[in-house]
Formats: sequence, structure tokens, C-alpha cells
Amino acid sequence: MDIKNFIDNQECIPLSGLWLENVNPAIGQVYGEIPNSGADDVEKAYQAAVAAFESWSVTTVEQRSKIMLKIADLIDESLEELAAAESKDNGKPLSLARRIDIPRASSNFRFFGHAITQFATKTHETTGKNTINYTLRKPLGVVGCISPWNLPLYLFTWKIAPALAAGNCVVAKPSEVTPLTAYLLGDIVKKAGLPPGVLNIVHGLGGSCGQAIVAHPGIKAISFTGGTSTGAHIAATAAPMFKKLSLELGGKNPNIIFADCDYDKMMDTTVRSSFANQGQICLCGSRILVEQSLYEKFKADFVKRVQELRIGPPDHPDTQVGAVVSAAHRDKIETYFAEAKNNPAHDNASSVDAYNILCGGKRQVVQGHENGFYLQPTVIEVNSNYCRLNQEEIFGPVVTLMPFKNEAHALELANGTQYGLSASLWTNDLSRTMRLTDKLEAGIVWVNTWLNRDLRTPFGGVKNSGVGREGGFNALEFFTEPKNVCIEY
Ligand code: NAD
Repeated sequence: MDIKNFIDNQECIPLSGLWLENVNPAIGQVYGEIPNSGADDVEKAYQAAVAAFESWSVTTVEQRSKIMLKIADLIDESLEELAAAESKDNGKPLSLARRIDIPRASSNFRFFGHAITQFATKTHETTGKNTINYTLRKPLGVVGCISPWNLPLYLFTWKIAPALAAGNCVVAKPSEVTPLTAYLLGDIVKKAGLPPGVLNIVHGLGGSCGQAIVAHPGIKAISFTGGTSTGAHIAATAAPMFKKLSLELGGKNPNIIFADCDYDKMMDTTVRSSFANQGQICLCGSRILVEQSLYEKFKADFVKRVQELRIGPPDHPDTQVGAVVSAAHRDKIETYFAEAKNNPAHDNASSVDAYNILCGGKRQVVQGHENGFYLQPTVIEVNSNYCRLNQEEIFGPVVTLMPFKNEAHALELANGTQYGLSASLWTNDLSRTMRLTDKLEAGIVWVNTWLNRDLRTPFGGVKNSGVGREGGFNALEFFTEPKNVCIEY
């Protein structure tokens, strides 16, 4: 299947005539091609977007909302096709794509279709000076949206929907690793009545196509989700042009478990927060920290549960763990297996980095899919929070385990990384909850739950996990520029 760019509501081949291979990770085989777009394709998309902005920016909120809601309905109608496409492109279980990814993509359009009708600005009356200030919020113009491969349509639409709802035109690039559902979205937005040029989707590599979007002087803002080092590079490119930036980056999220928690609920959720989507969710809890008194029991029960997870072809209804997204990503994760194997705990009693692989640490051969990129869910006990496996984002089916002595120790370990995206806390002690939620360095803290999302809430990270917040009115504020008008009467 060949994927094309979507520019001015038309399918276009790349101007260079160059293509990239698209691989199905479940079987490790190429199944199609995508455009290897360059700066000239981005320019073409930009020109279409600029031309469309004049009329799109002055459409009524009701007109925009109606189209957003129609897009949401059409995504719902295409649930099966989109879920199958997402699973094929990414390797995630079909059941997960059907239950989470695609419904969330339609929710994104529905949510911002409604939110824009409720978005209002403020007035400030300066009493005693016969002065009133009111603030307008104007769309920015043409904006760039760049998304990663782990939740392809889910995160692509999380950016595009608020950008369009706020009256901007968009040049968007999905990950070159998972382009298929973004391609299918082109047809959907066209059917929903989105005018030509309002949304343009270009496919290609980050360093060429993505870089051309970031470096384009006419593109006013970049909303980016991806890795921290890519985010730093984007910030360095965009900052001299004073572009607005929203950067949602990597994480190394702690999952802090106290002995007083609801054990069964915590165990079910921790298995999920560790290995959902093969651990390839930026919000997965990849560092499990357990209170000393519960540690041995937790370790035994958790490892048993992880070993019971069913690894298999994404389209099999029983599969809980599918393939990781690519051979390159599998190889990267395997370097962490090697690190652990090369520094076993029993040989390194005094060494800083010593690892004990409790389960997994290997490839999994799936019958009939021998060339697919399957890895066993892996639990590794570590003896220090400052080891490589606790400091670097692995972004795969790998979690580490270590005990903590008390609340202060738990906090020190939880905050002891460069990242600060999310944290999960398991306890039934209210005072402890209040103390720790106050002190945890994270943009999102879950207590006795995980990935429990209300789209109105601010979403994003602190430290090297990003800058800015998505979600709710935060996203509409990002995609608009405030202009204050001061009148003395
Ligand atoms: P990545 O940074 O390699 O790529 C993300 C996107 O950026 C892709 O579309 C890629 O083509 C593009 N890109 C790469 N280089 C670019 C450049 N120089 N200029 C412009 N665009 C460029 O990330 P990935 O491997 O696709 O995704 C995994 C990462 O995403 C992980 O670090 C994960 O934590 C992070 N992530 C964060 C969140 C969040 O909300 N904070 C959500 C999901 C994923």
C-alpha cells in the first residue's frame, strides 16, 4: 500500500520522487512505501495553508465546531479500518487500538469541537480610571504539528484538533515509522467538509521533512511530541525565530508503592502501567519503587503476573503484548538487556550498577511470525537509582524494581532523574498523599490509578520532559495569540 502526502485536499507524491519503506513490525516485512518528503513538499503544504488561512480564520466557531464533530463521527464509523491500520503499522494489539487509540482520536476532535464553543477571553476594568481592557485571542496562522510513533493517530489528532478548532491552518507530520492512520485521516477530513489547505499532511524523515517544518520562517508555532534530544534540537532551531513551542518529551516515570495500598488494584494496574502498548507509552511507569516491607511479596507476585502475559500476533484476540515498533527500536532495547546481563548483581556486590533480571530479557519467537519484533516483558531488579537502566528512557517492555526505606527515600528516588513527566503513587494515607503530590517533580501525578485522563486537564512534563501544556483550554491558548485592547472613556 502506497501512502501519499495530503496537500490542499489532494493526494500528492513527493516532489523529489523519493520514497521510504514502511514495515509491518508483527511480521518484519515491508508492506508499502511512504513519501520521503523534503523542504519543497513542506513549502507546497505551507503555501496551501497560507492561502486557506484567510477564510478559515474567519469562519464562525459554529462552522468549525460542526466540522470537528463530523470528523469525530467519521473516525468512529471507520473504527475497524483505522484500528487494523494502526495495529499493522505499529505492532500494538488490535484490541488495544480498537479500545484506546482510535476512540481517543475521535474524542480529540469531539472534545475540541465542543471546547472551542466555550473558549472565552477576559476583560479587566481599571476602576477609578475610566478604563477597560479586553483581550482578544487570534489564531496564529500556519502552525506545525509533529508526532511520534507510539500512539500514532491518538497523538497526531491531539495536536491537530485544537490547532484547527482555534482557526489555524496546519502542516502536520506523523512519524515516518507509523504513517498509515495519518494518511487515512486525510480522506476523513475531506469527507467531513474541511476546506482545502486547512490541514496538510506531509510524510517523511524527521531530519529532513520535520526539520523543514520547524525551520520554516512562516510557520508560527510548533507543537511537538517525541524524544527529549529531538525536542532540544527543535528548540534550538525555532528559538531564534521566536516561534511558540509546545514540547512533550520523554519520561522515566516512577511508580511508588506503599505497603498500605489496595494491593490487588495496585497489582492489576502496575502490570498494565508497565507493559501496555509494549511499554511504549510516555506515561508508563518504568521505575517501580516499593516500600521495603512489601518488597519481597510484590516482587514474587509481580514477576508471576508478568510471566503470564500473552505475547503474540497483534491481530490475535488473546494477545496482550504485541511487537515493538521496529527492528531499530528492538535493537536499542536489547542494548539495555545486554547492559543488565553484563553487570549481574552477584558479580558486582560493590559495583554501582548491578542488575538482576527477574524475568524476560530475551526476544520471543512467535509462531508463524518468526521475523516480527517481539520481546519478552522484562523485570530487572536494580541496586541503585543512578544506574543506566534507571536514568535512560528505554521506552519498551522493560521495568526496573527497587525497594525504598521510607517516604523521604521514596521521594528522593522518584525525583532522581532528568525527567519529570508523570508519577504514580499507591497509598491509602491521605496525609502522605498530600505531602508527596506536593513534592513530586512531575507534570502529572496519579494517585491509586494510572492513565486516567480527563481531556480538560493540563497535560505535560517538567524538567527534561518538556515545555508547555496540552489539553483543554491550555491547548487553545497555545494555538492563539492574546492581544490586549485598552480603552479609556
Ligand atoms: P522522535 O523524537 O524520534 O520523533 C518524533 C517525531 O519527530 C517524528 O515524527 C520524527 O520524524 C520527528 N523528528 C525527528 N527529528 C526531527 C527534527 N530534527 N525536526 C523535526 N522533527 C523531527 O521520537 P519517537 O521515537 O518517534 O517517539 C518516542 C519518544 O516520544 C519517546 O521519547 C517518548 O517518551 C516520547 N513521547 C512523549 C509523549 C509526551 O506526551 N510527553 C508522548 C508520546 C511519546
